[in-house]
Amino acid sequence: MNEQFDMVVIGAGPAGEKAAAQAAYFGKHVAIVERERRLGGAAAQNGGVPTKTLREAALYVTGFRRREVYGVGLDIAPHEALKYLWSRVDEIVDTMTSSVSENIERHGIELIHGTAALTPQREVHVQCPDGSSRQLEGQAVLIATGSRPFHPAGVDFDDPDILDSESIIGLETPITGILVIGGGAIGCEYASIFAALGADVTLVDSGARLIPFMDAEISRVLKDNLGYIGVRVVLDAGRASVQRDHFGLAVTLASGEVLRPDKVLFAAGRAGNTQLLGLDGAGVKTDERGRIVVNHRFETTAPGIYAAGDVIGPPALASVSMEQGRVAACHAFNIPFKQTIDSQAPFGIYSIPEVAMVGMSEEAAAFQGLDYEVGRAWFARNTRANIVGATEGLVKLVFQRNDRSLLGVHIIGGGAAELIHQGQAVLRFGGDIDYFIHTTFNVPTESEAYKYAAYDGLQRLARMDAFMDA
Ligand SMILES: Cc1cc2nc3c(=O)[nH]c(=O)nc-3n(C[C@H](O)[C@H](O)[C@H](O)COP(=O)(O)OP(=O)(O)OC[C@H]3O[C@@H](n4cnc5c(N)ncnc54)[C@H](O)[C@@H]3O)c2cc1C
Repeated sequence: MNEQFDMVVIGAGPAGEKAAAQAAYFGKHVAIVERERRLGGAAAQNGGVPTKTLREAALYVTGFRRREVYGVGLDIAPHEALKYLWSRVDEIVDTMTSSVSENIERHGIELIHGTAALTPQREVHVQCPDGSSRQLEGQAVLIATGSRPFHPAGVDFDDPDILDSESIIGLETPITGILVIGGGAIGCEYASIFAALGADVTLVDSGARLIPFMDAEISRVLKDNLGYIGVRVVLDAGRASVQRDHFGLAVTLASGEVLRPDKVLFAAGRAGNTQLLGLDGAGVKTDERGRIVVNHRFETTAPGIYAAGDVIGPPALASVSMEQGRVAACHAFNIPFKQTIDSQAPFGIYSIPEVAMVGMSEEAAAFQGLDYEVGRAWFARNTRANIVGATEGLVKLVFQRNDRSLLGVHIIGGGAAELIHQGQAVLRFGGDIDYFIHTTFNVPTESEAYKYAAYDGLQRLARMDAFMDA
């Protein structure tokens, strides 16, 4: 006998949790199936929550900023430091996974522990850990099974010194030398964390710049700043080949250079969790990269079956996955609450220093043939940044020359992931850089940099106009 629900959600990560809560909030009878004991998905287990906690703990435990500003660091044995770091990570992960459980309970959602797959009749078959099984039926089904680290062929991930973003969590021995492969967000974040912990860090990427979707100038500033904290960045490195010989790990770059790190961390992409889900039988199509194909309603090629989050591909962010889940739930039940996701979602990268962006990069504006200008304010001249000793980086505004409307905001520096939201609000409401000129900011704050970036933009406009008149 099938158990009947309005909605059955597969996966209790950010996309699944928020979709289930949205539907339940509007009175729907919802079940959520999760194969892991701990809820929260990658975000809570090995993604945003543990990495950001690790970063904060590493900065705190090593006295990273104090070392720079006051010349006083903390002399703590690496084993001890690692113990503090992981216990802090565990504590925060526990808190966040409990908060997901509480949210599910508060909304009256039925939590089913087990591994789910679709049947050709579009029911959800759940294999429970005790060997029993359950058969669920939903007016709508949402696939929110997330992603896992991509493993390139020919690399032995059974080698205890070859890690990915899952196996690195809880590592018991201190890292003295690590090679991070992949200059995307995860690679830059881990390279920063290990540099803060005093390891010898090399970050390699086959491309010409770090985090390629980022504004090129910000990407260059990030590379320079990673260099200042001791990360050796090797770009255009080709495909790194990783072998073990009798001396240990040997990583050969396209240039012929051979590196001998203690550990290698692969941070080179994610693959969707679509295997063994019975997608073909249920009529759910995937693209050539294995990502579930959805329309603007987040509905798959099988009517009534929706998909959201990492399983549908980029941007593969917890922030966006949650919104996709909510929008999918609203469409599934014609709830006129959230019809589309934000077309200009911000990105935050928690490297040292932090990076954040929203809207168009300078290159994108140039590529589109827009008549644009930029304005910059460097944190080296910002009072608050000097007081807290975080003077690296800048706020960069990209705007239209004719009406000064804001096109994009790019920030590198302490607190960038928070600071970006002011620019995002102006962008979202169709504002211009005059907003920053005429608004009073608390002083001293890092936010004040927005004002000086806008003034810089005005000065550039004036200089360009004077040049044209001459
Ligand atoms: C190192 C790292 C750092 C990151 N940092 C950030 C960040 O700072 N900010 C940000 O926004 N994003 C960040 N992300 C990305 C973010 O973690 C993901 O985008 C987000 O977790 C995707 O959510 P999801 O719900 O789609 O999938 P997931 O979080 O992967 O959850 C999917 C869930 O489905 C379950 N599941 C899978 N298959 C089945 C099945 N057959 N039956 C039952 N259950 C199943 C899984 O166990 C899992 O719990 C980071 C990712 C990583 C790896």
